[in-house]
Amino acid sequence: MEPRPAANVRHRRCPYLEQILKERAGPFGMLTRYKADCHVDRRTHRFTGRHPVPPCIGEPETCSLYRGEHGVEDERIRRYTD
Ligand code: SF4
Repeated sequence: MEPRPAANVRHRRCPYLEQILKERAGPFGMLTRYKADCHVDRRTHRFTGRHPVPPCIGEPETCSLYRGEHGVEDERIRRYTD
C-alpha cells in the first residue's frame, strides 16, 4: 500500500511534467523509483528512495526548473498586460 501524504502537504502535478513512471528499484525491489520526463529541460529525472516524493507530483515550487520557467512565463504575461 502506498504511503499517504501528510495532511498538511499539498500535492499537485507540475504543469511541465510530460509523463511520470513508477517502478521498483534497489535490492529486492525495496525502493521506489520515479522517472519523470520534464518539458523544461527535456530530460528524464529520477527520484529513488523508500518513499520518494518528486517535486513533479508534490511541490513543484521546490524545483529550480519549475521556478525558472514559471518566472519566464510570468514575465511574458506581465509584458502583455502592461
Ligand atoms: S517539477 Fe521540475 S523537474 Fe519536475 S516536471 Fe516540473 S519543472 Fe520538470
